[in-house]
Amino acid sequence: MGEFRKPRIVRGRGVLGDIVEPGKDALVCTVPEAWEIVSGQVPGWKPAVHEIGSMELSDLERIEKQLPACDIVYGIGGGRAIDTAKFVAWKRGCEYVSFPTIISVDAFITDAVGVRKDGNVTYVGSVWPGILAVDYGVIQKAPKRFNRAGCGDLLSIHTAMFDWRLAARAGRAGYDEAIAGRAQECLRKIIEAAAEIKNVSDRGIDALVDCCCDEVEFCVQLGGARPEEGSEHLFAYNYELITGRKVLHCELVGVGIYAMSVVQNNAPEEIARIMDACGLAFRPGDNDITFDEVRETLKTLNTYIIKSESFYSILNEVEISGAMIESIIKGLKA
Ligand SMILES: [Zn+2]
Repeated sequence: MGEFRKPRIVRGRGVLGDIVEPGKDALVCTVPEAWEIVSGQVPGWKPAVHEIGSMELSDLERIEKQLPACDIVYGIGGGRAIDTAKFVAWKRGCEYVSFPTIISVDAFITDAVGVRKDGNVTYVGSVWPGILAVDYGVIQKAPKRFNRAGCGDLLSIHTAMFDWRLAARAGRAGYDEAIAGRAQECLRKIIEAAAEIKNVSDRGIDALVDCCCDEVEFCVQLGGARPEEGSEHLFAYNYELITGRKVLHCELVGVGIYAMSVVQNNAPEEIARIMDACGLAFRPGDNDITFDEVRETLKTLNTYIIKSESFYSILNEVEISGAMIESIIKGLKA
């Protein structure tokens, strides 16, 4: 992680017109569905347009060399379009504008350039957006479920903070009171905005974007993700390992938040109520995850954290029992 550089955030409807600088040679990395919605915002603007494809590092290296020269790169779309733009900007050392059309993943505000190596996600560089465009009308065109998912990596503060404090008490992690306070404040703001997030209203989008910015900032200051990454993420990583499946990250993390709050004995009913209020599809059946997969993930979780040498969490102190698993399944069905 580099030093945090807060982007200029431009909000509204039809915001592309407010940020395009006609004198600059622009390259847009996008997908056809996103470009179709956004391109009409600036009549007469003719940037070079790259329809993104493979995220494999070797492919991206080759593609970047073939793309036209530019002064500025726009990432317009979901996580892959933005990561492709980041990759080009990082390679070329040029400016980059982040224009998410969906906010289910936080790639739009983080600096890490996410690519794939033999199919696995890896991070190859760091580049901060100069401008973050938040176009409510464009974001609201995406299915609500995907934007609502944006709260998963923020609500994870509930279980992650528990694990961080636990690790600090066990002498297994440093602790920062001021940053812990900021994380709790972030969580409070998301809970307060739950109904707006469920509706994907302008205010709901603002809450997600602003809290994501805060979270990235304090994690960079801390030099680690402990305030938002705890055992709920270990659950998600183990799920991906044993099923070999990729599902929407934040919904998977949502299952993990509920399951680990039970293991932590950390207000599971309350956090379930909050996730329902935000419209986060954390219940199997509403997402692409099955109850059998959840059972299997939980059964193997204590072994997973030892094998993978994971950071210290509740899973180092509590063995997940069969009764616990059935209680989690029951709660997920409620
Ligand atoms: Zn996450």
